[in-house]
Amino acid sequence: MTATIRDLDIKNAEVLLRVDFNVPLQNGEISDDTRIRRALPTIQYLQEQGCKTVICSHLGRPGGAPDPKASLEAAASRLAELLETEIIFSPEITGDGVEEVARTLPNGGIMVLENLRFHPGEKAGALDFSGELARLGKVYVNDAFGTMHRKDASIAGVPTLMEQAAVGLLVGIEIEALTKLMDGPERPFVGILGGAKVSDKIGIVDALARRCDTLIIGGAMSYTFLQAQGIDVGQSRVEKGKINHAKRILERCEAKGVNVLLPVDHIVATELSADVETDVVTEIPEDKMALDIGPETVHLFTEALASAGTIFWNGPMGVFEMEAFSAGTRGVANAVAESKGYSVVGGGDSAAAIQAFELSEKVDHISTGGGASLAFVEGTTLPGIRVINERRSQ
Ligand code: ADP
Ligand code: MG
Repeated sequence: MTATIRDLDIKNAEVLLRVDFNVPLQNGEISDDTRIRRALPTIQYLQEQGCKTVICSHLGRPGGAPDPKASLEAAASRLAELLETEIIFSPEITGDGVEEVARTLPNGGIMVLENLRFHPGEKAGALDFSGELARLGKVYVNDAFGTMHRKDASIAGVPTLMEQAAVGLLVGIEIEALTKLMDGPERPFVGILGGAKVSDKIGIVDALARRCDTLIIGGAMSYTFLQAQGIDVGQSRVEKGKINHAKRILERCEAKGVNVLLPVDHIVATELSADVETDVVTEIPEDKMALDIGPETVHLFTEALASAGTIFWNGPMGVFEMEAFSAGTRGVANAVAESKGYSVVGGGDSAAAIQAFELSEKVDHISTGGGASLAFVEGTTLPGIRVINERRSQ
């Protein structure tokens, strides 16, 4: 198992903590502080242990140069409010000045560094930048699950250079929840995939086709699969380059006895717009595109989910951002919420959907990492986790 901060003796330690404070900013104001709140248990634990904590994160895509619109200063202030403590914000990321402040932090003290992506070394995974960050403490802690599939300096480089390394409490919860899908999941295991592009998700489709008893495919990606079965999909989104791959997946599922469920009816329109006229059809007319699954399909998917022992859901069933095409995703979200099986939702848009439907409390785990949760379920050891595991086995 991966070491968490509870496995280390970190009393009064000098800690460099990597978090995900990649919060949405509107005119310099934080519009949603969920990500900061999610990091609180780890930060509070470190404070209780008397640690001197230097916190670092990325925010947005400033492209390796300072950009005031992507400053972490607002996040640092919000953290100070939430913790009701004073926090030092450092506009410098590395250098003698920062090291000096880090060294002189009181026990339980916190400093937040400016956006790591203001430095080109972060995305490049540069060793010299990792080395400079590593000088800011002795113990490395990563609680930024959503970035652990990347090889950025603060994720994959820094932990190799510090005395000890572990994951934080949030990442610990993520690993535990997602591991339940991998190691002897309660059967039947039902995977539900949707969302925009097959090509983004080839890895996860393959992985679920290998592990699930039932594989449900909806959303835009289902039209590539329907097309692969020779079904006409009109103007719906199809990735021509992936039709053969879709065919192979369907053949493999059939050979292995995996039950694949695809949409049997659809909400169609002539164009993608909020107030366009819609129809429910079982055959997609040549001049229309399918933008959501239909009610029969919701029924079919709901039945499969009702008896599931384990559920993993990634990707909305339609263009749920528009009311006219949201019923399919809402229906599936309800079915996941109602299920007695162990349920995990991964993926940014799927998590947003389940929150918008106010069903978050009814699923067992909503992953904070889109790409990272998919990579994990595909069976990859995430680079950020691997380096910490390797430290432990030394
Ligand atoms: P996630 O973030 O959960 O992994 P994706 O990013 O893969 O999900 O896909 C979400 C997007 O897919 C949404 O913006 C949604 O509008 C779009 N989408 C879903 N179904 C369709 C469809 N039938 N046609 C076009 N777009 C769709
Ligand atoms: Mg998305």
